[in-house]
Amino acid sequence: MRILPISANFGLNSVRKNNTQTRVMSAMPCDSVSFTGKNESLRKVVILLGAPNSGKGTYARKIAQSFSIPQISTGDILRKELKAGSELGKEAKSYMESGGLVPDELIMKIFKNRIAEKDCAKGFILDGFPRTVNQARQLDGLLAEDKNISLKIVNLDVDRPILYARSAARYTCEDCSRVYSIKEGYTPETAKCECGGKLIKRADDTPEVLTSRLENYDKQTLPLIDYYGSKVSNVGVHGKDAPADETLARVMEKLQ
Ligand SMILES: [Zn+2]
Repeated sequence: MRILPISANFGLNSVRKNNTQTRVMSAMPCDSVSFTGKNESLRKVVILLGAPNSGKGTYARKIAQSFSIPQISTGDILRKELKAGSELGKEAKSYMESGGLVPDELIMKIFKNRIAEKDCAKGFILDGFPRTVNQARQLDGLLAEDKNISLKIVNLDVDRPILYARSAARYTCEDCSRVYSIKEGYTPETAKCECGGKLIKRADDTPEVLTSRLENYDKQTLPLIDYYGSKVSNVGVHGKDAPADETLARVMEKLQ
């Protein structure tokens, strides 16, 4: 028998890139404060804020499953437009090919199209968006066009040493890209993926890369906490890391 030294600390034991886990929490009725008061048919819009490694993506996936709403990230919608070869996609491509950032205005146009799609009728969860105060302002304008929205904003406030520890423990299967968190005292050399693949450290998963991502985050995204002010619900992980399930339950509480 192969022993997998996997910590249950992060990523719900393991995170598949194309997540197929089906464990969901029961969906609860939507009776939150909204622009229009209590209404069961409100579109649930969730914004998750948090630094790199805060677990945002993992939780976004779980919340999306729980509420049966899609998870929307800028990367995904950009890739989709590029693949479709739409006019907006071509415009975005020209920026990307010249090594520049896709302007917020263009991202907003693509985003507007995305949330007009049928699967967003009940709502959607934003993962890594808005990234800047400028994007947040434009998003406000867009959401204000729909009076039938219940907006929830949750900030994952995780201590920096914990973010670094998660990065240090994370290994990826060379063959199937499954992500593992290696417990202290074990070495990835003696561990193997369920598929038999070798566990490796990804080149972009180093303390240096994390430091630079955190610097960007502090500069661009952290100001969103002030921007949204009292609308933000904080879920903190302080001192030592908490089991992902526990943190998810606390996030879900804030979304009721
Ligand atoms: Zn594998």
